[in-house]
Amino acid sequence: MLDYHIHVAAHGEYKYTDEWVGDFLNHARLRKINEVGLLEHDEFLSMVDNALIERLAFNNPDLLVRRGLEVDYVPGREQDIKKMLAGQNLDYVIGSVHFIDGWGFDHPDNQDLFENKDIDRVYRDYFSLINQAVHSGLFDIIGHIDLVKIWGYRPIKKGIMHYVDPVLKSISRSDMVIEINSAGLRKPVGEIYPENEILKAMFALNIPITLGSDAHHPDQVGEGLEEACNAAKRAGYRYVSGFDRRQRYLTDF
Ligand SMILES: [Zn+2]
Ligand SMILES: [Zn+2]
Repeated sequence: MLDYHIHVAAHGEYKYTDEWVGDFLNHARLRKINEVGLLEHDEFLSMVDNALIERLAFNNPDLLVRRGLEVDYVPGREQDIKKMLAGQNLDYVIGSVHFIDGWGFDHPDNQDLFENKDIDRVYRDYFSLINQAVHSGLFDIIGHIDLVKIWGYRPIKKGIMHYVDPVLKSISRSDMVIEINSAGLRKPVGEIYPENEILKAMFALNIPITLGSDAHHPDQVGEGLEEACNAAKRAGYRYVSGFDRRQRYLTDF
């Protein structure tokens, strides 16, 4: 079992100490997770203590500790992202969209803005950004691919697959992986990312998956992953993908 989406620094409020990072590893062990992917949002990259991670990995030989990064994809940032990733020695890079034209739609303070918008347009814009993230070729994994549903707003004029299909086709032509992210269970939408219909279409297109809890606290490591695994298995999946220095491999789950 693996969890590839664990934020140690959360939103910058926690520092890397042996005790704090060790707490994440202990919770992983308790939840029978043996492959642990630590990553930060790219704005907190400078907070990461690589020597500390290496030391803890050495002292916890029963766990496979991977190092990732979650990058905010914003069109026009491609060159900066490329520069930022150079020389980082990461195992994997997740590309995520948290902003539509500067609107941080997943932030609780901004959810009211959905009220005055054409939701179909929001979905169209969001998935167009995801598609650009795929085409940028910068990422190994697309994070929480239908995050735009976070507050429970759904498109009315067209079904979800109208917006997602072109993205899945792009992903299936690349060597990218889609993350099954259980954090949606803790949000008003109350379901994993991505929803079942998308998951089924992904399996039909042979798109590989990985798993992440989006933990921002040790207690959240592995949270909801059992449900995420069950959904993936129901869709037909038998393997998940891990990464070692940006090389993908398959493993049981
Ligand atoms: Zn995210
Ligand atoms: Zn995250």
